[in-house]
Amino acid sequence: MLNLDKSHKAFAEAKLYMPGGVNSPVRSYRSVGSEPPFIASASGDRIYDIDGNEYIDYVLSWGPMILGHANAEVVAALQEAVLRGTSYGAPTLLETEVAKKIQAFMPTMEMLRMVNSGTEATMSALRVARGFTGRDKIVKFVGCYHGHSDSLLVKAGSGLATFGVPDSPGVPAGAAADTITMPYNDSQAIRGLFDEQGDTIAAVIVEPVAGNMGCVPPVPGFLETLREVTEEHGALLIFDEVMCGFRASAGGAQKLYGIIPDLTCLGKIVGGGMPMAVFGGRKDVMSCVAPAGPVYQAGTLSGNPIAMTAGLATLSVLQRDPTIFRRVEAATKELCEGLERLGEAAGVPVTVQRVGSMFTLFFHDGPVCNFDDASVCDMEAFKTFFHYNLEHGIYYAPSQYESNFVSVMHNPKEIEKTLAVAEEAFHLLK
Ligand code: PMP
Repeated sequence: MLNLDKSHKAFAEAKLYMPGGVNSPVRSYRSVGSEPPFIASASGDRIYDIDGNEYIDYVLSWGPMILGHANAEVVAALQEAVLRGTSYGAPTLLETEVAKKIQAFMPTMEMLRMVNSGTEATMSALRVARGFTGRDKIVKFVGCYHGHSDSLLVKAGSGLATFGVPDSPGVPAGAAADTITMPYNDSQAIRGLFDEQGDTIAAVIVEPVAGNMGCVPPVPGFLETLREVTEEHGALLIFDEVMCGFRASAGGAQKLYGIIPDLTCLGKIVGGGMPMAVFGGRKDVMSCVAPAGPVYQAGTLSGNPIAMTAGLATLSVLQRDPTIFRRVEAATKELCEGLERLGEAAGVPVTVQRVGSMFTLFFHDGPVCNFDDASVCDMEAFKTFFHYNLEHGIYYAPSQYESNFVSVMHNPKEIEKTLAVAEEAFHLLK
């Protein structure tokens, strides 16, 4: 049995000070009916808790750590950077360097702005889309999560799905009134919507690979349809690649599927584990942003030198060694094929979905194409599988509605160990 005595004590104390003892809901493990290990440190593909337990980490801070934890080059760059001061609130050379790097990976980012979280990136991208088009309505998809801003907290997957909260109290009816939700991967529905009210829609925002109802790839034709109908009706297409950017491929989902959005949001990997995200895209659209244009957006710590340093170091490593993407993807593929094979061999109905280096093991017989499919997974089987793995040193995301991630530090030995534990866990579920 895993000893988490210190973590349990720490959690009890944390709950006195922070709602649910955490600063982001899914961390609480409420979804799996237990309590979380408190983390002391992380290195490479491993994460260590305060009780002295060691885990192979497939959460990777919910995606950012594609190079593994505490990458030597990123750490060295940060150590140097802090000596120069941690924030100036003034322009630096670093910001332009980071912008250039991002553009090298994603040429559709003709102009961009740095912010501090994915939530800010999507919220600001929507404001820009509304300002640019002079329209109010936006379209999002059921099960896609774009952060916790009011107008996007509608049928939003991830933590909301985990806790069964379809919409949050505190979101004014008016803020959600202009948000139209549509089923993911349903091209016909979106065509119907645009036929009826396309000329009132400012933007469609989508996770081009959904990650927040578990990993759900777009079906052929879905993203193409979004591109077509938005263009036809003068609406903008916003790709929220906060999760799938640098995961679906080096150039994100847009490169993988060959679709050019008007705006893109990035986060997670782009900040190398620091609070940093980006929105950007078409120059004519981004020229609306203050002070170049009238759409207001700002941030005291935006573009701060420490976040920029972590992002720049991470992107530099990725740019210098393009084999990283190939290697991470190969490791993820091996893991996913193994999980599916072992599940089948044990007679447990599972479907493993993967795009690049993000994946979800669904306790579902057959493909998961949308939120309805995800929500009929066997959640009890998921919990049993999750707990067995945690107890045996494998750290997966504590919800069926999440993606897992692999880093370049996960080598064949770790994958083999992960599969050995999975095999035992599947046998429990027979
Ligand atoms: N968009 C997507 C696709 C995400 O996965 C997330 C976070 N998981 C966000 C936006 C929000 O990012 P943050 O948590 O940094 O606000």
